[in-house]
Amino acid sequence: MNDQPTKYSREFAIQMDEEDELHAYRAEFYVKEGSIYFDGNSLGLLSKRAEKSMLLLLDSWKKYGIDGWIEGEYPWFYLSESLGGKMASLVGAAPEEVIVTGSTTSNLHQLISTFYEPKGMRTKILADNITFPSDIYALKSQIRLKCYDPDEHLVTVNSRDGHLLSEADIIESMTDDILVIVLSSILYRSGQILDMKLLTEEAHKRGIIIGFDLCHSIGSIPHQLSKWEVDFAFWCTYKHLNGGPGSVGALYVNKRHFGKEPGLAGWFSSRKDKQFDMEHDLTQANHAGAYQMGTPHVLSVAPLIGSLEIFDEIGIESIREKSLELTGYMLELINHELIEYEFVVRNPEEDSKRGGHIYLEHPEAARICKALKAKHIVPDFRTPNGIRLAPVALYNTFEEVWKTIQTLKTIMDEEEYKEFDNKRGVVA
Ligand SMILES: *Cc1c(COP(=O)(O)O)cnc(C)c1O
Repeated sequence: MNDQPTKYSREFAIQMDEEDELHAYRAEFYVKEGSIYFDGNSLGLLSKRAEKSMLLLLDSWKKYGIDGWIEGEYPWFYLSESLGGKMASLVGAAPEEVIVTGSTTSNLHQLISTFYEPKGMRTKILADNITFPSDIYALKSQIRLKCYDPDEHLVTVNSRDGHLLSEADIIESMTDDILVIVLSSILYRSGQILDMKLLTEEAHKRGIIIGFDLCHSIGSIPHQLSKWEVDFAFWCTYKHLNGGPGSVGALYVNKRHFGKEPGLAGWFSSRKDKQFDMEHDLTQANHAGAYQMGTPHVLSVAPLIGSLEIFDEIGIESIREKSLELTGYMLELINHELIEYEFVVRNPEEDSKRGGHIYLEHPEAARICKALKAKHIVPDFRTPNGIRLAPVALYNTFEEVWKTIQTLKTIMDEEEYKEFDNKRGVVA
């Protein structure tokens, strides 16, 4: 008799959890009792350290009033720079290349208004046809602000299957009229990782500026933005970074662009020692801080102090390693248990191309998600027929993955999803 548990048994999952070096971190998060949260790629869970830093900054307001800008444990005036420095290791950048500011969309506006300076025949922006809508809206409005027609000046690479992009297709679209490229590091639906190093090299060979939206890769996979010489990047902090609803975003600008005038300037673009001179000529900061605008949203930055400490302690490499094990295990279970039910796996299966979540399609996806929620499992529905499942390395377990796939199997076996209508809710 062999008493090794088989791969598909609950015992196997439990054994994986016992061997997991990050397992202890789960206790640092507020995981709702009796429920399984697989939506950390939309809104990460609250950690006790983030809660603590949030309360600490609230207290600094109570204690210091206006002097909180320069007093207390985390003086507010320097917070955007200091946290940018802490985030830099997650994107592989120098500390001064990253600043915590704005939101994904407002940072994209800032960076495009800075780098999109159409001249001669180079007047176009290249993006793709399956990216997040906000990015496209921002690019179109920036093109309009330069008095061009987005129909002509926004070029999109088309996905061949509606889910994945081919790097070769993207490179082929890098023509002489393209000035700036904006792509996602990880596609928000299929979770495909784009080869940022290759795309940056190819863009630069052709004299094109390139930037990435890191919303789904920040805190999920390692990056080497400086080494790859990526020109700019921007991201939110409420997904894998667990900064809380509406937490402040961040941006990266490569060193060689320092000194470039911000397209959208404000008094926080200033060199810090000059800011309170109140001159009408801006002396811009000589680092990524120049691309801030106004007063930082201190209370929406505060949870990041605690949250980033966790990433710093563990290191992104170990987080990625566990994340790959979790998603790899989930895929194996899906391929074994759900084979007879019309599910199609839309994320790339190979490790080098697979981000932090699994993306399934099913014609009944909306009501399958409702059936999961009724059983206290939180997935993420993407219209019209997508189910995103994000087992997060910091707080999810192998046993939760096992339970979820078992539950999905029961929902399908017993046709429990038929008790719900196949329509989406307001948010997901
Ligand atoms: C989540 C997400 C956004 C959200 O933008 P906000 O300005 O933070 O609301 C934008 N782009 C991508 C790719 C995203 O995944």
